[in-house]
Amino acid sequence: MINYKDIFKSLYNRAIMGRNGIDDLIKFQFYFLIILVILDIFLDSYIVGLLQLITMIIIGYRFMSKDMYKRVKENQIFNNIRYGLISPFKNIIRRIKDRKHLYKKCSCGTTIKTPLPKKCGIKHTTCPNCGKRNRIIALRKKKI
Ligand SMILES: [Zn+2]
Repeated sequence: MINYKDIFKSLYNRAIMGRNGIDDLIKFQFYFLIILVILDIFLDSYIVGLLQLITMIIIGYRFMSKDMYKRVKENQIFNNIRYGLISPFKNIIRRIKDRKHLYKKCSCGTTIKTPLPKKCGIKHTTCPNCGKRNRIIALRKKKI
């Protein structure tokens, strides 16, 4: 039996040898291209078509490029921007997922984390950094 997966893999490896191949930036551009294609169905816009063409050219160029140093640098810049954009939301998502603690930002900039109280209502905590008393309104309570 012929293993098509291995044949495809070796052909792919030979094609990308010494070339940039797929990196995070190309993946992002590919998703962007899909969004553009979907937009193109609804909007009969000349700009969307032009953007599709430009994106495809950039993807093809970056994929086949032999100047790895520049491509890796571009990918790093892209990843830095991406993490910079995502990280503030990561914190919020983590806090929503955390069902056992309450969070409060002190006026000094420190975020205070306290366990859920036994009763809902107003709770007071002292900031470990500046010693200021902070009021936390607890809408959830500890499950017993
Ligand atoms: Zn403080």
